[in-house]
Amino acid sequence: MDAEKTLHIERHEGDEMIRGTLMDGQVRIMMCETTQMTQRAADIHHATPVCTAAMGRLMTATSMLGVMMKGENESVTVNIKGGGPMGTVVAVANHGDLKVCADDARVELPLREDGKLNVGAAIGKDGYMTVIKDLGLREPYIGQIELVSGELGIDFANYFTVSEQQPSLVALGVRVAGDAVLKAGGLLIQPLPGCPDEVIDQIELRSPMFSDISREMTFAPKEELLEDWFRGMDLQILERAPLRYHCACSRYRMEKALISLGRRELQTLIDEDTGAELGCHFCHSQFAFSTEDLKDLLARASRD
Ligand SMILES: [Zn+2]
Repeated sequence: MDAEKTLHIERHEGDEMIRGTLMDGQVRIMMCETTQMTQRAADIHHATPVCTAAMGRLMTATSMLGVMMKGENESVTVNIKGGGPMGTVVAVANHGDLKVCADDARVELPLREDGKLNVGAAIGKDGYMTVIKDLGLREPYIGQIELVSGELGIDFANYFTVSEQQPSLVALGVRVAGDAVLKAGGLLIQPLPGCPDEVIDQIELRSPMFSDISREMTFAPKEELLEDWFRGMDLQILERAPLRYHCACSRYRMEKALISLGRRELQTLIDEDTGAELGCHFCHSQFAFSTEDLKDLLARASRD
């Protein structure tokens, strides 16, 4: 038995965010499990393993940004455009509700030399990561940085450090076997201003323990991992919250999208008399509108 006091964090299976501190609040940490939502994304988009890994990593990091938002209707969108064969990859978080889409989620690439999925090549690194925070105000907050690697962990660490002036360590990982997502998750570590160098050194010394995070997560529950990684560093758990894949699209929202096309566009659709079918990029729901439906929408557009 370990002489040190054990924390006995309650075990919980499934996707969730665990937020806490180290060293009497000098360091903020956040661990996210995203296995189920990554599986859901893989199923919805019929994704190949490398694209599943890319989408899972992006959703994991976006969930970290999402749960930091305070207001009820606030959301964050992360848009990755790296010039790779996946095209643009977009994840949206409304607090713990995540969704993702990519121009092409069927990309297949050879494994890297170290046997890992080549997420960096699928996404590419010649481009930008754009973070759009909708705070319910007139103008959203937009932060943009150049991609460094396309592997996303380093890119998000760079985003936090450069755009939010918050030095951060980010580990992201997705473990895939065929069509099955075995584990997906991530860890964010943020030393707050004034954090002593010894503490930062201690974290860097331990970073190899969580660098391959999805592999670690297949061997032990996340609670045990946290206790193990941060033993002796005064780990305090402040909050746990569920995460899930969820798209809030609806016929009503699609109607609003059609109305926003404007009267001329709507009239053209009505004249063509073939109706309109709108699909959601995030959940692949289809919404069909007949010419009669479109006439109703035109009447509504004219009233506004
Ligand atoms: Zn949808």
